[in-house]
Amino acid sequence: MSAYHPLNEEEAIRIARSIEGFFPQEAELRSREIGDGNLNLVFHIADSVGGKSLIMKQALPYAKVVGESWPLTLDRARIESEKLILEAKLAPGLVPTVYKYDAELALTVMEDLSDHVIMRQGLINGTRYPKFADDISTFMARTLFYTSDLGMNQQDKKNQVKSFINPDLCKITEDLIFDDPYTVSSNNSFDPAIADAADALTKDSALHLEVAILREKFLTNAQALLHGDLHTGSIFVTPESTKVIDPEFAYYGPIGFDIGAVIANLLLDYAGQEHWMSDEAMREDFRQYLITSIIEIWNQFESKFRTLWNEQGVDRLANSAAGYQDYYMKRLLQDAVGFAGCKMVRRVVGLAHVADIDRIPDDATREKAQRLALAIGTSLIRGNRQTQTIEQAIDTALTAA
Ligand code: ADP
Ligand code: MG
Ligand code: MG
Ligand code: MG
Repeated sequence: MSAYHPLNEEEAIRIARSIEGFFPQEAELRSREIGDGNLNLVFHIADSVGGKSLIMKQALPYAKVVGESWPLTLDRARIESEKLILEAKLAPGLVPTVYKYDAELALTVMEDLSDHVIMRQGLINGTRYPKFADDISTFMARTLFYTSDLGMNQQDKKNQVKSFINPDLCKITEDLIFDDPYTVSSNNSFDPAIADAADALTKDSALHLEVAILREKFLTNAQALLHGDLHTGSIFVTPESTKVIDPEFAYYGPIGFDIGAVIANLLLDYAGQEHWMSDEAMREDFRQYLITSIIEIWNQFESKFRTLWNEQGVDRLANSAAGYQDYYMKRLLQDAVGFAGCKMVRRVVGLAHVADIDRIPDDATREKAQRLALAIGTSLIRGNRQTQTIEQAIDTALTAA
């Protein structure tokens, strides 16, 4: 129809109007660009008469990071829309509905979730989400099991691996998470107050060994189709509902990477609560809630994944080999713990930080939160291959911190 170009608000409205059966003829459409403008445009389009609304997300051909343009394939818009559609089938109710995908414009039109809040902001505000552990563990168990060799035909899986090759976005992860924080890199960015801790990361050979092993898994272990960017900024919540967005980093990788992303972001908020929850007793209580959530998420994930495997496993030997399921699940836990640690470290010293910690106004409190996040993260990385239970891994990390 039209060659690729970034849309303006008028064009976005025109496309919204052309979506059959969505807006009535008499709709008065308003458009607002609500994305943060670095990688993608996000338009919110609403009918001020009838009240209906939708979201349009358009990929930009570059990321403005590190002060210069970083070319980024538009193919990630296809990956995002195909992954969203697959997730809707595998984990119904836990993602926005896709109304339309336009390959030429790298554009996904989807359900408006503005009645939800981005979980990172919700947690910063001190809100609890009683359905979250159940929902996110269901989302992960179902999307990961059914795309793995345990849950799908293995020849079909290889074709699926092919259509989710995502080298540009994987490179972002490989560099920003599994390399830069452990070396002197212009991609890194940290408060001068913690320069000593950042410097220590570049010299810690025991830590480097663990990160190299985790990096290898990210590079080579095509275990299941991951979301690939499952932090609390990619999750919309209300106390009754959970919706996962933004799967543009989707690729076939190690299952523990998605689980680790969720764990890391709850722990980053734990560190940030140093500021956000100023009453000490309430802070302690909220932190306990975050830890309990992490334990519930892992335990429920494990139990749901095992049930799917027992009831729907397609691999004869994996289904029957005594001890194999226990071996597999323990490895997932250990990977999740290691990846969680890597994701925490990069959010303190790497290129992209999190609001839970970065927005703390007071220098001394922010420094305390940063050092806490680094201590927890490095302890998780160091201990990942010894982990036997989630409780023990978290306990050890909090004691070390
Ligand atoms: P990016 O890949 O650029 O991070 P996201 O998909 O995370 O883009 O979207 C950026 C922001 O746009 C979100 O934080 C949210 O505020 C808004 N947004 C994205 N998708 C939706 C949606 N389906 N409904 C409502 N708001 C959305
Ligand atoms: Mg963003
Ligand atoms: Mg996002
Ligand atoms: Mg994104």
